[in-house]
Amino acid sequence: MTIDLHTHSDFSDGTDSPAQLMAAARDAGLTTLAITDHDTTAGWKAAERDRPPELTLVRGAEWSTHLVTGGDRVSVHLLAYLFDPADRALAAELDRLRADRAERGMAIVDRLVADGIPISREQVREIAGDAAIGRPHIGRALVSTGLVASVTEAFGSYLSWHGPYFVRKEDTDLHAAIGLVRGAGGVPVIAHPRSRGAARVLDQAVLADLRDDGLAGIEVDHPDHTPQARAELREIAGRLGLIGTGASDYHGGNKALRIGQDRSTEDAVEAIVAASSGATPLLGPAA
Ligand code: AMP
Ligand code: ZN
Ligand code: FE
Ligand code: FE
Repeated sequence: MTIDLHTHSDFSDGTDSPAQLMAAARDAGLTTLAITDHDTTAGWKAAERDRPPELTLVRGAEWSTHLVTGGDRVSVHLLAYLFDPADRALAAELDRLRADRAERGMAIVDRLVADGIPISREQVREIAGDAAIGRPHIGRALVSTGLVASVTEAFGSYLSWHGPYFVRKEDTDLHAAIGLVRGAGGVPVIAHPRSRGAARVLDQAVLADLRDDGLAGIEVDHPDHTPQARAELREIAGRLGLIGTGASDYHGGNKALRIGQDRSTEDAVEAIVAASSGATPLLGPAA
């Protein structure tokens, strides 16, 4: 099997609809794909409906969380797989995060507009549609002004977290999020633990604590990870008994990445399925 466990559709900040996302996966030779939009399960229905028959679908989400250790507060992304999307506590928290994304997105737009950048709230709302709003949607508006050539370029300037227009978004305490995912029968896996920010706090001791709290796995192979980071994370996963996953974090046209460019093993998927009780495990041929 050829497996990608972390991708975004246009229900968050990817550019492909779930149907296009799954077709892209199939065309790239993948057999198993996880849809993991930011802070929402709204794309699951379309994914279930439009799934190409030969593709196995893993339903998930990428949750915005934070971790406080030693006086440091860092943003951590938590992948959650195969949880019950109707779980009241989990759904209420994701609702809260999405509501804040909408407000925070508009606050960033207001700051840009106040500085004379010719975009508007209406334009960004139209670009985002029903999606959980993220900076890439604002990035597309910036591209349309001609001020930047790509969303990635916008992230290097106007959208940078240390730039003057940045507004922080709400997130969930990581320990609480892990509890909510497990409570909904799902499987929590830390996304790209060696990306900027989180890398300085997610050492083996912290990951061991999180495992004791219910963390099931860590993303080992991810485009943000150097070969050294991958080797280190593979070792940590082995030592701590965590599932090690791999994925592209594909965002369609919003990020220069190929779907399936990093991948997971069959063992990782089996371990995720074995640990889940929240949703029909897999949909498709491998189910
Ligand atoms: P936000 O969730 O609104 O804070 O925006 C962060 C999201 O933008 C993350 O999901 C990233 O995957 C995406 N992102 C981060 N850097 C870039 C980049 N250079 N180009 C395109 N998308 C990016
Ligand atoms: Zn994203
Ligand atoms: Fe992420
Ligand atoms: Fe992601």
